[in-house]
Amino acid sequence: MAEMIFKYSAMNGGKTLNILQTAHSYEEKNFKYVIVKSIKDTKGQKNIVSRIGIEKEVDILLKENESLLTDKNYKIYYTAKVILVDEVELLNEKQIKELWTIAHLINVPVICYGLKSNFKGDIFSNGIAQIFAMADHIEEIGSSSLCSCGKKAIFNARKENDKFTDVGPDIIIDDGNNKNYEYVSLCSDCYLKYVKINSIEAQNLAKLVAKIK
Ligand SMILES: [Zn+2]
Repeated sequence: MAEMIFKYSAMNGGKTLNILQTAHSYEEKNFKYVIVKSIKDTKGQKNIVSRIGIEKEVDILLKENESLLTDKNYKIYYTAKVILVDEVELLNEKQIKELWTIAHLINVPVICYGLKSNFKGDIFSNGIAQIFAMADHIEEIGSSSLCSCGKKAIFNARKENDKFTDVGPDIIIDDGNNKNYEYVSLCSDCYLKYVKINSIEAQNLAKLVAKIK
């Protein structure tokens, strides 16, 4: 049977471009592919949009608690050679279990693209925890997301009014309507330096350093 694969990177890591390239190679062979994204991803509305400006309309724009196992959705994907899911961190646990079942019961491969952690540095969602639990393969996409220091970016830091923050609503989409917010991909060292330097862990370690000299 087919597999469910999770491909992750930090923001701006080329995930959507990777989907568009994969879709293109299926298209060249006249193989049917289906693109799915959550309606919660308001960027590009019904399209997925890569950062170099290429867009493609999705086949299933999944509502917040919509099942993939409806007649309507099944008819869209059952003859597909692959299902490509963009921004999979916006799907819920149940939707991930459905994708896994589709791969393993009706033999349609599922490739999910997304972020593993949120701006707080925590696992992004229950959906992402579920995909880590169930994916047949987990792959990091290259290292095209770079921190400003030049190292590979791991974290998706949020800036509110130009200041790094790790408090606030879990999901704010950078669709152009949230001008006070900006996301910055950072390596672990810079994430600690700019975002988590006042965390309990960093403060406790600093105290140890000061005490034991
Ligand atoms: Zn850095």
